[in-house]
Amino acid sequence: MKTVHDFNFENKRALIRVDFNVPLNDGFEVTDKTRIESAKPTIIKVLEDGGSCVLMSHLGRPKGVQEEFSLKHIEHAVEDVIGVEIIVASDCIGKEIEAKANDLKPGQILLLENLRFHKEETNGDRDFAEKLSRLGDIYINDAFGTAHRAHASTTIVADFFTDSKCFGMLLAKEIESIDKVMKSGEKPVLAVLGGAKVSSKITIIENILDKVDHLIIGGGMTYTFVKAQGGKVGDSICEDDKMELALDILKQAKEKNVQIHLPVDVLAANDFSNDANTQIIDVDKIPNGWQGLDAGPKTKALFDEVVNKCKTILWNGPLGVFEMENFATGTIELGNSIAEATKNGAFSLVGGGDSVAAVKQFGFEDKVSYVSTGGGAMLESLEGKTLPGIAAIME
Ligand code: AMP
Repeated sequence: MKTVHDFNFENKRALIRVDFNVPLNDGFEVTDKTRIESAKPTIIKVLEDGGSCVLMSHLGRPKGVQEEFSLKHIEHAVEDVIGVEIIVASDCIGKEIEAKANDLKPGQILLLENLRFHKEETNGDRDFAEKLSRLGDIYINDAFGTAHRAHASTTIVADFFTDSKCFGMLLAKEIESIDKVMKSGEKPVLAVLGGAKVSSKITIIENILDKVDHLIIGGGMTYTFVKAQGGKVGDSICEDDKMELALDILKQAKEKNVQIHLPVDVLAANDFSNDANTQIIDVDKIPNGWQGLDAGPKTKALFDEVVNKCKTILWNGPLGVFEMENFATGTIELGNSIAEATKNGAFSLVGGGDSVAAVKQFGFEDKVSYVSTGGGAMLESLEGKTLPGIAAIME
């Protein structure tokens, strides 16, 4: 796996695919600079070597050229984070842009206009990718968030850089973290899968059964497993058509020597509302009119014990409806357990969608080993898929 550390960028122009798809407020100000900060180490490495950077990204989902999605809105945020004045281009391909790129001196940065102003970007157009490739000597992909897309700037452009292409530091870290869980994790390895539905996690569960020693299944998925085994789940979220699949997963786990841990008790509510009446009840005895919305106390203690005996931990999906304060403690306590295990030497990776939001909301970000920056890309990695943006650099 080639990274920026395998290159010296002195007098070279690096064409870097970054993920600057940042949130903007109504005044077009950047409200969260995390993604820019994440790309900083790679950009600084190029500049400190004595090279220059051509940065390319998408922003939002424009239909053609739409001013509100212009990357010029993020100019000051990028300058703030990187600490260097940048040049903002009016497009991402064409003669004028090529001339601007050619004129770059060591230490300078050119930020291209939104790649998705051209439909050829998402179409993975070869001709468009070739035009992008003219803007740099070395291609760096540092955008994990789009690595599962075979777009022109994330995948196809790499074809035009035979040996001179590599992963940026952020993408390399993402790959290493996933490998640590999926390939080389210190045992016992644990995956905690929560979230709403079995149907959206099924490929992950099936893939992960070959990699882990323990699997905690929580959140809304619980009830399909419980009902399939004859339990009463009341009005809890449940996918009846996935019950057979749930039984098959339990069987597969047994054959593969994976210990599955399901909640034993839940905090049930008489309405899907923060103000609902609640009761703690065994997971398989939920009366009609009630629904399980969070883990119960025995479950929290059980999961804490499992988490703290594992050396490698992957967490995807909340254990309850954490968006409502009264049903957030299962997710918060799980976060606490993972933080404690991490402090005691375990490697912990949090990734994919809502668990990242929960980790940020509850302040666990610095207490776990790594929080992934890619939602869809992370989920596809956990499903065992080879991401096109990663394969294009490996080739
Ligand atoms: P996912 O995107 O599949 O990871 O699902 C995340 C969502 O699952 C969050 O919005 C949670 O509110 C929801 N969720 C977690 N536990 C439950 C539950 N017991 N009942 C309904 N929704 C849940």
